[in-house]
Amino acid sequence: MDFDRDYAMLIDGRLDSGSARFDVLNPATEQVAGSAPDATRGDLDRAIDAARAAFPGWAATPIAERKAALNAMAQALLANIDGFKRLLTSEQGKPHAEAEREVMGAAYWLMGAASLDLPVTVNEDSANRYSETRRVPLGVVGAIAPWNFPLSLAMFKVAPALLTGNTMVLKPSPFTPLSTLKFGELVKDILPAGVLNIIAGGDALGPWMTSHKGFDKISFTGSTATGRRVMESAAPTLKRVTLELGGNDAAIVMPDVDVEKVASDLFWAAFRNNGQICIATKRMYVHKDVYEPLKEAIAAYAKTVKVGDGSEQGTQIGPINNEGQYRRVLELIQDAKDKGYKFLVGGEKADVPGYFVPVTIIDNPPEDSRIVQEEQFGPVLPLIKFDDYDDVIARANASEYGLGGSVWGGDEDKALEIAQRIASGTVWVNETQYLSPTAAFGGMKQSGVGVEGGVEGLLEYTSAQTIVRRKRAPVAA
Ligand code: NAD
Repeated sequence: MDFDRDYAMLIDGRLDSGSARFDVLNPATEQVAGSAPDATRGDLDRAIDAARAAFPGWAATPIAERKAALNAMAQALLANIDGFKRLLTSEQGKPHAEAEREVMGAAYWLMGAASLDLPVTVNEDSANRYSETRRVPLGVVGAIAPWNFPLSLAMFKVAPALLTGNTMVLKPSPFTPLSTLKFGELVKDILPAGVLNIIAGGDALGPWMTSHKGFDKISFTGSTATGRRVMESAAPTLKRVTLELGGNDAAIVMPDVDVEKVASDLFWAAFRNNGQICIATKRMYVHKDVYEPLKEAIAAYAKTVKVGDGSEQGTQIGPINNEGQYRRVLELIQDAKDKGYKFLVGGEKADVPGYFVPVTIIDNPPEDSRIVQEEQFGPVLPLIKFDDYDDVIARANASEYGLGGSVWGGDEDKALEIAQRIASGTVWVNETQYLSPTAAFGGMKQSGVGVEGGVEGLLEYTSAQTIVRRKRAPVAA
């Protein structure tokens, strides 16, 4: 496939360059990485009409054929991994190795979802009556994706929606539309026309989608602030919503960890993808008995990590994806400086092009500091000392967020006990960020509504339909 070609929308099985375009920047250079179509309201209407027209046929397609289509999309992605990897780095900023992992993850998600089946519940099978509840698709789904994992998080929506017989209009973030648009070109001939439509646009397009009468459901991944607006906008037409939102994940490090072994794992828990992961460790609570050596080990490791342009050999951390997020992270660093917190590493911005922020670790800031309380979504980590488990669990839970969290320690029983007391949708023990297409993932509290992944994730794209059949003809009076 040709990755230098223009990027087009996919509407009703046809590529469409749109009537207007917008530029997408490479965050490592601030140069144009490519241009994307800027969808009009008319384009959105056409995409929804195409999805609506395709819905009955796709819903009636045997699930085995829909699974085969998901697997074919996965294979097509894998066959073009090099091109997608380069494109993803150029618009998102992540290093090539990470971009390759994301493309593989997207394919893996499609294949994993294709291994699932919808349950049928037999409610009653008596002499007089048979009753079962089956699952039927909702109709047309509007999917809205963020910029941190553009391809894989789009597949978190495409895979379950299409598998369960829905059709879709997918909108990537305006910061990272190119690889998703390319994916549309790739699957154009795999799916029947209209089953999956992909459109891109500016800030107006998302609200047009969430308020549009043509959608039966909105599946959204992004910030908690935007999630609130999505839910409000979807309410008048009672659209179903799945909202995958922000997080402020706590890691709790017990005193019996092997400091040297765990330091690099803990570093990457916070800094993978430059900290731009909903389930990145955003606050690290370390037991006082191990705080000093662990802090030294993490700081020493941080100094070995190469930050730079993701397309360069050896880069481990790229730039922040976009200017707004870059400014926000710098503002949090400035706030920490103004308050006089101690920096273990980083804090000083090099004067280079691109949205680069140095890896920054802050030494034991107060619990009520902004860097502890807010979602930084960037390469700045507060290390915080604790000495009492009840207290640290209470601090971990004192948040409007409840997305993920992790516990690290040699005593697995104790670690498990702590994990079960953390009010988050996923808690990992001695690892982090492992997600699977066959396991439910979602946020508690204001980190989300509903889940993606697993059979539970499939159910979110369906309505329950109960069919009750009387077995015997009514007896004449
Ligand atoms: P964002 O909320 O700014 O944007 C997400 C998407 O929503 C983009 O496509 C954007 O164009 C669109 N959008 C913006 N305003 C809209 C509106 N009013 N109506 C409808 N759509 C609108 O989020 P982001 O900055 O792209 O992503 C970062 C955030 O996403 C972080 O908070 C992160 O934690 C969260 N996130 C959550 C998950 C998860 O699975 N829970 C995964 C990744 C990222």
